[in-house]
Amino acid sequence: MQHNKICSTCGTHYTEIPADGICTICKDDRQYLPEGGQKWTTPAELDKHHGVRISKVGENIYELVVIPKFAISQRALLVLSAEGNILWDCVPLLNEPAIEFIRSKGGLKAIAFSHPHYYSNMNDWAAAFDCPVYIHRSDQQWIVNHGPNIRLWSGEEEHLWEGIRIINIGGHFPGSSILHVPNLSALGTIFSGDTIHLSPSMRHLSVMYSYPNQIPLPRTEMKRIKKRFENIQFDALYGVYGYQNLTVGAREVLHESLERYLV
Ligand SMILES: [Zn+2]
Ligand SMILES: [Zn+2]
Repeated sequence: MQHNKICSTCGTHYTEIPADGICTICKDDRQYLPEGGQKWTTPAELDKHHGVRISKVGENIYELVVIPKFAISQRALLVLSAEGNILWDCVPLLNEPAIEFIRSKGGLKAIAFSHPHYYSNMNDWAAAFDCPVYIHRSDQQWIVNHGPNIRLWSGEEEHLWEGIRIINIGGHFPGSSILHVPNLSALGTIFSGDTIHLSPSMRHLSVMYSYPNQIPLPRTEMKRIKKRFENIQFDALYGVYGYQNLTVGAREVLHESLERYLV
């Protein structure tokens, strides 16, 4: 067995790589293996050639991105709140400058995930900040490293503090979720991960079984998801990539986007 490997395609850290040598996450239809097959790197190699860029994207919202681009190249979003900060999703590199920055903002009270593509080295992040990691129970089969901080939650919503909720939407993965923070904008802000995906035009939100492989969801799922959002109020949305900051009218964009599937 080899230890402490990182899948170069999705950024998932493994303490033991699977018996067939292929990343569990990338073998699934929602991810992919690159041309030439599975590639691995190590935490030391990643740290040697990459850093974590931290930028403010809104009042009390910071994004963390690994630079230069690595694996899926998602951002993690740091949400500051009086009763405790939340890291929404993870990036696969945790280094001292990132730890120091987050500590300077008060540390983390929780890490919460949209879905398995961003689990990265979540146990390292949780250990550094001594905080729980919220993962929806429906996705527990995709946890390749079980750690003591992982807290599986069930049902439709998990209430944190100050009215902040993790809301299960499903679709992309059964456990796919969003984070809803009521006090960052007039009607509420959602952090969407891949649960809903904002297009470069900023005028369309898609919900897909697989984004890289362009596998749509059944129409029944699109209907269910549309209904699921009926009672969720928000006007701002932050997605997984740096351009995905929609600070006005996000709910209308989602409504119009989902309407297209129902004609
Ligand atoms: Zn992978
Ligand atoms: Zn995904």
